[in-house]
Amino acid sequence: MLGRDHALSGALVFTALGPSLHVTGTHLAAGVVLAAGAGVLPDIDHPDSTIARCFGFLTEAFAWVVAKISGGHRHGTHSLVGIAVFTLGALAAGTYQISGGRIPGHAVFSWHMLPAGLYLALLYSAALRALHIGGHHGDLLGIGGALVTCYTAWDMIMLPVGHWHVPLLALATGLGCAAHIAGDELTHGGCPLFWPFYAHEFHLVPRPLQITTAKMGENWIVFPLLIGALVLAAWHATGHPLLCASYPGSPERR
Ligand SMILES: [Zn+2]
Repeated sequence: MLGRDHALSGALVFTALGPSLHVTGTHLAAGVVLAAGAGVLPDIDHPDSTIARCFGFLTEAFAWVVAKISGGHRHGTHSLVGIAVFTLGALAAGTYQISGGRIPGHAVFSWHMLPAGLYLALLYSAALRALHIGGHHGDLLGIGGALVTCYTAWDMIMLPVGHWHVPLLALATGLGCAAHIAGDELTHGGCPLFWPFYAHEFHLVPRPLQITTAKMGENWIVFPLLIGALVLAAWHATGHPLLCASYPGSPERR
């Protein structure tokens, strides 16, 4: 799928889950953009991908290294192992950030913010680039967003997932990567979910329904569906219940 649609799918998943995660306002906005960036993160295994072009030769060289380690395009980064590595990387960066004396919601600069800051800058910039927002200034906006997010520690806000509490950055990363893999499983290529143990490429739909990247099926069906679903999910997540079920912040729940 195109980077644009991968980013939209990541944004859609986080927005749709927003009410059940009890995340609103700036935290919801940050999570949606980060999940959009994570929606193109698995393609960091290809030097010509949207995310690999974010910071020029730096990210292109990184993508080259990732491709070598993960067995090439659409291998390791498009598997359950890939989702786990990206999510645990985000978790480790956030844990290191907090170990520098950072308390979510309390603003202090520290070198411990560097790994999380780089992660955030990459995801923000990738999201803006994939969605064609900001043009050449998109990367600067991404770096600015990463600084603000690190400074305020929004990325380490804990969100409820079942019996656990997961930092926003790690959750957005995991959801975005999962959305990417689901998107690629709609295409003819599929994804090797159980790499490196089992090379079989999994698909979500039977062959006649599988799409080809950037062709009619993606541009005239997948893209409009993603936009429509994202608008509805955003409407719901910002306090306008679509169904009779009450929203966490609605008056009847107060
Ligand atoms: Zn991909």
